[in-house]
Amino acid sequence: MSELYKLSIKEKLLGLESSSFSSTELTQSYLDRIKKIDPEINSYITVTHEKALIQAKQSEKRYQKNLTLPLDGIPIAHKDIFCTEGILTTCGSKMLSEFVSPYSSTVAVKFEKSGSIVLGKTNMDEFAMGSSNETSFFGPVKNPWNKKFVPGGSSGGSAASVASGLASAATATDTGGSIRQPAALCGLTGIKPTYGRVSRYGMIAFASSLDQGGVLAKSAEDAAYMLKSMAGYDPQDSTSLNVEVPDYVAEIQKKIQGLRIGLPKEFFSRSFPKHVENSIKESLEVFEKLGAKILDIELPHLELALPIYYVIAPAECSANLSRYDGVKYGHRCENPKDLDDLYMRTREEGFGAEVKRRILIGTYALSAGYYDAYYLKAQKCRQLVANDFQKAFKSVDLILSPTAPDTSFEIGTKTSDPVEMYLQDIFTIPANLAGLPGISLPCGTHNNLPLGLQLVSNTLEESILLRAAHHFQLNTEWHKAWPFF
Ligand code: GLN
Repeated sequence: MSELYKLSIKEKLLGLESSSFSSTELTQSYLDRIKKIDPEINSYITVTHEKALIQAKQSEKRYQKNLTLPLDGIPIAHKDIFCTEGILTTCGSKMLSEFVSPYSSTVAVKFEKSGSIVLGKTNMDEFAMGSSNETSFFGPVKNPWNKKFVPGGSSGGSAASVASGLASAATATDTGGSIRQPAALCGLTGIKPTYGRVSRYGMIAFASSLDQGGVLAKSAEDAAYMLKSMAGYDPQDSTSLNVEVPDYVAEIQKKIQGLRIGLPKEFFSRSFPKHVENSIKESLEVFEKLGAKILDIELPHLELALPIYYVIAPAECSANLSRYDGVKYGHRCENPKDLDDLYMRTREEGFGAEVKRRILIGTYALSAGYYDAYYLKAQKCRQLVANDFQKAFKSVDLILSPTAPDTSFEIGTKTSDPVEMYLQDIFTIPANLAGLPGISLPCGTHNNLPLGLQLVSNTLEESILLRAAHHFQLNTEWHKAWPFF
């Protein structure tokens, strides 16, 4: 009974159905594990102990009556960026450190309706800005593979919780890589769906044209179970796509024979660390054995992606974060002298250094006289990147690259150089600019730290990503490893 956390979602559902264990026993085993292990990892900001046990009891009743829901009794965690009614929702910031949401995000509602059990809200970089989970007001999250190292960011708490067996799977968001990069650094499977596939209603905004909710899980199969419950049209989100959601769990069974995988010359002309190069080479051999074809492709504007992102994301964040003014909700400074003082001191006290840096850059890029030179230019260049992908998808089904430049790095080693930190997302950002779905899956280790590989597909082709990842995982062992505790 002590190793229930090691079961896949499918195995947990079978165990619950056959009464090998109950929803309460399963939930309690996670709560006990969180209590024991999380003080060292810091993956949760809030543990919803009581609510989880109430939900577990309700789940048990559904099992007794044979009225089960798709994820009935599966304990999961939500990134603390998803509003959850009556529960603290902080976005990793002092600004919202006491904010109890009056409503739930569509994602939270969907998981409630799927019968899953919420263990709590996970730690994250402040307002999802970061690649190491060091910008959280609630302290850094530790990588379970080595506690001196970062778990990646901004969904570092979601990643560390799943990698430590403190949740079956977790929700996360990805604006420039925040699902895929922590997946790579923690040895998980992380999928960022097509922009618009998952509702952004009640998901606290960072950069609205880039933000997308998705999943961090142990395997592609677990991710398929999660995405099936999470995706779908939402009239409350004006950018939500009104299209059918495939049955991802069924889709992943299909063979990958004949799938064409493209290697962008712009990525592969870089020099990778030897261990990254080897893991990619070995992974390509696995895909070839499974009948995939490997082709060279070109994405000529790829080198523009990072600079484009660091104009657009701060610009949109500066607009989105203007709502935190001490008037409506969130932190408010003590005894303001006048309205200006209220705004200024509230924002000075409530935001951390990285968030302030982004607001400054973004406000500058949007200011009169600079809008055309920076923001508009970046939007035009963004289209060039998107066009490159569309051209490439005429000859390939998937685009492969490493997810991150290397394995995880030690806490504190990149915080003084923001550009060095921004380079973490060099492989992940292009998919966000083009609104495309991407997945990261474990493909090796170096010094006992995981390495990840990324696959990107065309719009709404999440099934192909999950399918390729699933078949890779049927033929490799990387995703099965657990850190030692
Ligand atoms: N690391 C990137 C940033 O800090 C991406 C963050 C994200 O995807 N939320 O902007």
